[in-house]
Amino acid sequence: MTLWNLGSINADHVYAVPHIPAPGETLAATGLSRGLGGKGANMSVAMARAGGRVAHLGAVGADGGWMLERLEGYGVDCAHVQRHDGPSGHAIITVDAAAENAITIWPGANREIDPEAVKRALERAERGDLFVTQNETSLQVEAAAQAHAQGLTVAYAAAPFDADAVRAVLPHLDLLVLNEIEAQQLAQALGQPVEALPVPNVVVTLGAKGCDWIETASGARHHVDAPRVEAVDTTGAGDTFTGYLLAGLSQGLAMPEALARATRAAALKVGRHGAADAIPTLEEVERAAL
Ligand code: ADP
Repeated sequence: MTLWNLGSINADHVYAVPHIPAPGETLAATGLSRGLGGKGANMSVAMARAGGRVAHLGAVGADGGWMLERLEGYGVDCAHVQRHDGPSGHAIITVDAAAENAITIWPGANREIDPEAVKRALERAERGDLFVTQNETSLQVEAAAQAHAQGLTVAYAAAPFDADAVRAVLPHLDLLVLNEIEAQQLAQALGQPVEALPVPNVVVTLGAKGCDWIETASGARHHVDAPRVEAVDTTGAGDTFTGYLLAGLSQGLAMPEALARATRAAALKVGRHGAADAIPTLEEVERAAL
């Protein structure tokens, strides 16, 4: 089974700062590193590290060759990633001493993906494959609708949050993943609790408290605790979690087992600096004494 991921690919520029700058403040960073990021790329790496077969759909700019090499190095199939002339997506990430972050994103090529090419690529997908997307690219609704119509399982991570984007993609979803704040924002925007959403499975991530899985048909809510770890960088925690969850489902794990593995993987990630490059392997997840 293939995991198709229509997702962003960003160059992350990460600045270590004593505190997140206040409006009007100028601050010298104490460290700088560049790495692979973007919710889409992070999720593809997480799914590949978890042992899934991953095909990435998206676009990079002329400066994006190193990012595709990095993704392919992790085992992600980038044959359908488009190369544009303009700039790749990138993110300016400031991380403070308490591991809190503030992020500014330039979407670049991620918002200029050719619809025809995505359509043709997805036509190669097989019934029973899994499709996932997030809110950092163009074409989420079109691609989710096509995947749904072709009989794929369709998942959506509602980040960065936009109520209208979620509303548009909802009818095509089998699984929706949100963090606690996004869940509150969505409930407020739609005027109904997430338990009432027309999506069979909703997972609400709760940071250090773990996650809740809601089966909307019955209203059953299952809680999974997160292991206690020392968090040094929460960048990509949600992407690691969702990537591991989907890879687990594609490997035939039942939801509780897939959630347990995803929770362990995300806990390991928050103990490390970085985004895609800091996502643990399945072996590390299984071996870790958490
Ligand atoms: P996001 O990163 O999308 O805002 P969360 O903060 O809810 O989402 O984190 C996603 C998942 O990562 C959580 O469900 C949890 O499994 C794991 N996680 C996040 N922060 C911690 C932490 N401090 N300790 C352990 N696990 C964590």
